[in-house]
Amino acid sequence: MSETIFSKIIRKEIPADIVFENEHVLAFKDINPKAPVHVLIIPKVEIPTITNINGKEHSELLGQLFDAANSIAKEMGVDSEGFRLVINCGKNGGQEVYHLHMHLLGGRPMNWPPG
Ligand code: AMP
Repeated sequence: MSETIFSKIIRKEIPADIVFENEHVLAFKDINPKAPVHVLIIPKVEIPTITNINGKEHSELLGQLFDAANSIAKEMGVDSEGFRLVINCGKNGGQEVYHLHMHLLGGRPMNWPPG
């Protein structure tokens, strides 16, 4: 699968409102936010979607994505009230950008079931 707009954001070829970055993970504000806090957390390595994840190969990276989520939630003040992490997978999952990403949504109560 070819690279996505997120690769360009990683290489800083197009702007993004970056809120977290380390060697393996980047996080930036969603351009079309669905909640007062809406951040996308992505691995810098290109993994298109959940079905491309291999536990053995990616376990450390997955831990880093969750560490980043916790750190961002705290930084943005949504850790105590709670927040939602969403990873859309494929057509029925509503995935639009095929570079694995976690949505961190917070700042308002979330509905269940999701749409
Ligand atoms: P998904 O539907 O899970 O693939 O989510 C893709 C998300 O990427 C959507 O919420 C878009 O609003 C967001 N998005 C697309 N392009 C950009 C961009 N250039 N900067 C920030 N967010 C983006």
